Amino acid sequence: MYEVAIVGAGPAGLTAALVCGRQQRRVLLLDSGRPRNAPATELHMLVGRDGHAPAQLRRTGREEVAAHPNVHIRDEVVRSAAVLPDGFRLDLASGTERARKLILATGQVDVLPDVPGLAERFGSSVFHCPYCHGYEVKGQALAVLGGGYVHCMQALYLADRLSSDVVVCTDGVTPEEEHLKLLAGAGIAVHTEPLTGIGGGLGDLRLSFDSGRTLRRAAIFHRTATRQHSDLAEQLGCEMFPDGRVRVDAVQQTTVPGVWAAGDMARQEALAEATAFLATGAADGMRAAIWADQELLNEDAERVGADETAEGERPVR
Ligand SMILES: Cc1cc2nc3c(=O)[nH]c(=O)nc-3n(C[C@H](O)[C@H](O)[C@H](O)COP(=O)(O)OP(=O)(O)OC[C@H]3O[C@@H](n4cnc5c(N)ncnc54)[C@H](O)[C@@H]3O)c2cc1C
Repeated sequence: MYEVAIVGAGPAGLTAALVCGRQQRRVLLLDSGRPRNAPATELHMLVGRDGHAPAQLRRTGREEVAAHPNVHIRDEVVRSAAVLPDGFRLDLASGTERARKLILATGQVDVLPDVPGLAERFGSSVFHCPYCHGYEVKGQALAVLGGGYVHCMQALYLADRLSSDVVVCTDGVTPEEEHLKLLAGAGIAVHTEPLTGIGGGLGDLRLSFDSGRTLRRAAIFHRTATRQHSDLAEQLGCEMFPDGRVRVDAVQQTTVPGVWAAGDMARQEALAEATAFLATGAADGMRAAIWADQELLNEDAERVGADETAEGERPVR
């Protein structure tokens, strides 16, 4: 029986593993090797690592965690999980593992629009987030792809903060009248014609329309829809928000005792939206690990106390 099992080795899971590893807990860290930012060439907004390759961050993080012999790292998918009277069972291809506490850090998956050429450019010239990748293309010709409210807001944000040359391509969607008014007010042109493809690369992208017309842009932004990477939280009975995120409290505890959720997969109720970034994921992982560690400490102290009381002695706490 491990003391803590952690599923997912992105910034959230690796940080949780580092914290538990340093506290000498017996830890099992499991990862299927498909982190959300894998397509990106550079990461940003992580102090000390700005501009580094995402794979380098994960590699260094794993080395730091692996330096603790009490942490076992396995590259395996956790297929299912169940609550036991004394902890949790995890089912892997290689067999079954058990742990007293469980930290889920399995992340989210981006759901990309079905525009030919988009998927292979996602992360290198088609970006999901102006905070993560806007600064690198500031002042350049930008397009926002999408006709919904979030895409309208993304275009307004880019025009306000980063470039005076922003257009919206809705790919056949007609935006609502009030959104069109907002965009017009900011001088943002809207192209509603369906797209047939995206070509070129960063700095020289070509968007092709149904009519045969093309539009040159330096970069495209598209706020993606996301979904849970794994259904382990649901299997365990964790309450989910309507946006698909796992409900956690201020210390990342889910509604299932003994299960914490950290990183992109989880959201605290006080936040209207998940803040899904590398640094916030690491902070979540740290909170989850510290409170899982504390809960183990309290449980063990109570057990010792109960044993000693039974023998007529004072509890140690
Ligand atoms: C293209 C792109 C670029 C980005 N760039 C930035 C940036 O520059 N700066 C920034 O702050 N944020 C950036 N982000 C956001 C950032 O990637 C996420 O916020 C961050 O990765 C979340 O960390 P996480 O640990 O929650 O999940 P992840 O990093 O996604 O890690 C989850 C891990 O869990 C594993 N896993 C899932 N299910 C299972 C299972 N059943 N069993 C075992 N393992 C499992 C996955 O394989 C994965 O390795 C970017 C996102 C995208 C899409």
